[in-house]
Amino acid sequence: MFPILTFLLSFSAQFLLAVKSEERDLFKLQREGVSLLLDLPELVLIKGGEEISSLLQEKGVSYQVLDEIEPGYEYYLIWEPAEIERGEVLFANPSFSLIKLREGDLPSFSFRAEGVYRIPLTPISPSAEIKYQKPIFDTLIQEMVNKVSSDTIFNLVQRLQNFRTRYSSTDSARACANFLKERLLASRLDSVFFQRFRPDFAPNVVGIKRGNEPDSVYLVICGHFDSYSNYNPLEFAPGADDNASGSVGVLEAVRILRDYNFNRNLRFILFSGEEEGLLGSFYYCSLAKYVTGDSIIGAINIDMVAYTLQNRDSASIIGKPSNPNCEPLVDYFIECANLYTNLKCQRRVMDRPRSDHASFNRFGYLAIHIRENLNLNNPYYHTPGDTIGGGFNDLNFVTEVIKASLATVASLAQPITTPIKEVSFRNFPQPDFKSNFLFYNVFGQRLNKDPSVPGIYFWIKKGEKKFRKIVKF
Ligand SMILES: [Zn+2]
Repeated sequence: MFPILTFLLSFSAQFLLAVKSEERDLFKLQREGVSLLLDLPELVLIKGGEEISSLLQEKGVSYQVLDEIEPGYEYYLIWEPAEIERGEVLFANPSFSLIKLREGDLPSFSFRAEGVYRIPLTPISPSAEIKYQKPIFDTLIQEMVNKVSSDTIFNLVQRLQNFRTRYSSTDSARACANFLKERLLASRLDSVFFQRFRPDFAPNVVGIKRGNEPDSVYLVICGHFDSYSNYNPLEFAPGADDNASGSVGVLEAVRILRDYNFNRNLRFILFSGEEEGLLGSFYYCSLAKYVTGDSIIGAINIDMVAYTLQNRDSASIIGKPSNPNCEPLVDYFIECANLYTNLKCQRRVMDRPRSDHASFNRFGYLAIHIRENLNLNNPYYHTPGDTIGGGFNDLNFVTEVIKASLATVASLAQPITTPIKEVSFRNFPQPDFKSNFLFYNVFGQRLNKDPSVPGIYFWIKKGEKKFRKIVKF
């Protein structure tokens, strides 16, 4: 346990403080200006200067000063580290270490870690309050689920594995991002784009399918396509289980859901930079929260779903118990799995920020992690043996997981039977349209002037709830 330290904190300097984990009322303190950076059962981190330290003392909260925050440095959690060759260890317990590194200095293959999480120095966002209604069986969703194909899944995993490595900084990962983008474009989504977050890394690949409601509320199905191996990730990191399996789940959702219509908007996201500390998803979510102000109803993150002890396994459905409380989404997923698939699920309400769902959670969005049995350690994890037949050994299981994930997003997105009307215009809008219609771009943002650039837009008659789609050329 941490002793109470009375530290002489200089004015304006900012410190990294570790707080005793029983101090859960920190979230109340957050409203008084305390910046909460990390919230784990074993470690609560806050950022603050003299003011914050006096506030903590006043409230009787014990804490330890771990470090003075200086520009040019970053903090990482390193899971189950075997050896840490660089950086300064600020905190350690049997399952992880907190280390300080020079910015951009993450030598991810110089220590054989289970995984890394970069701790952003921006505070955790307050939670969104979202309620889900109990899913009701819908034959249309069953029809979608029945279209999930083991053959397609197998072929796509093979295709991703053929890149040899998808380590974020390699040309091969960039080639994979191009492949994914081409595939999404060929699926006739409403928008497909690269999101670049680091010049030396492959970008995130994002696809949007508009729903029928005039807002920017959406659902996410995601997985990271980058990979890692402890042999030499620059040369060979096939990542069939981690995470071709989840990426292919996203691709199957695109292939099938594109032919249906929904009230809600859907986003299909393939993240990069996951293995270097959830970097791609962090960037995505920070923009969603602070730049575009997106309302995300829920995110289903599929990561490592293809290794089992043959036919005896259930999937772990993992969600945080608080900040935000993701239990309702865990339950919704399990109910959908029961309604539409043969997948057995383990309900795992726990804090486990070890994949991209943690980035959504950090910005207050509900997100869960779908994973093969948590109790099972894939012996091929992060090794050159993570290939079909090695780390990827159960095609039936991965097919059921993808079915359940697709059923969950389809159910939350509310399928409708009437398609969105689509029209093509060269000169649009015409003058007589302007006064009675509102125009939106593909992100669901209202335009305050006429669409001038060619592209896909949506218009809605004032007071109505039904969109029309314009392809302007
Ligand atoms: Zn992964």
